Amino acid sequence: MRLVLLGAPGSGKGTQAKLLTEKLHVPHISTGDLLRAAVAAETPLGQAAKEVMDRGELVSDDIVLGMLKERLQADDAAKGFILDGFPRNLVQAEMLDQLLGEIDMPVEHAVLIQVDPEEVVARIAKRAEAEGRADDTEEVVRHRLGVYRQQTEPVVEHYRQAGVLSEVHGTGSIEEVQQRILEVLRF
Ligand code: ADP
Repeated sequence: MRLVLLGAPGSGKGTQAKLLTEKLHVPHISTGDLLRAAVAAETPLGQAAKEVMDRGELVSDDIVLGMLKERLQADDAAKGFILDGFPRNLVQAEMLDQLLGEIDMPVEHAVLIQVDPEEVVARIAKRAEAEGRADDTEEVVRHRLGVYRQQTEPVVEHYRQAGVLSEVHGTGSIEEVQQRILEVLRF
């Protein structure tokens, strides 16, 4: 199963992806997690990315795509993947289409998790208390939401036109949302 999860910051993509990985037996690949690991390891890439992430902007397409390509080459990704946080703009969506097209393994499903923007701000405020992510302050969150609307929402249309998009409501319990996703995947 080759799946892309779409949704605003705080929509629950990461939470749902972690659960789905057990049901679908494919790895969860989060570009946000990959980037945070690079930041924590203080690699040159991580050092370059940190400031951009802390501002709530997107890290450059080349950096993220390079990281993703490497991750997709690992053995466990041969049977599929759940992508979380990628693609985040149209250029990345086209790069991914090209990459997967070359190996004749296109994205099979894109699932958009829909959550009201105010709910998202409230959820992230909670996460900020628990995890202390530098980009979870209210000001940066609002900026990330703006970046989402401008740059990532067109990606939703990209997958709609490709005929692989499904939409689910992201409010309710974690289990309820999980069930809705499994239903649209007919799993
Ligand atoms: P969220 O979905 O809550 O915003 P992520 O963990 O997906 O959190 O992303 C955190 C930050 O990492 C983003 O704001 C951005 O700076 C960077 N990032 C993650 N994925 C990408 C990507 N595909 N392209 C560019 N930047 C990315």
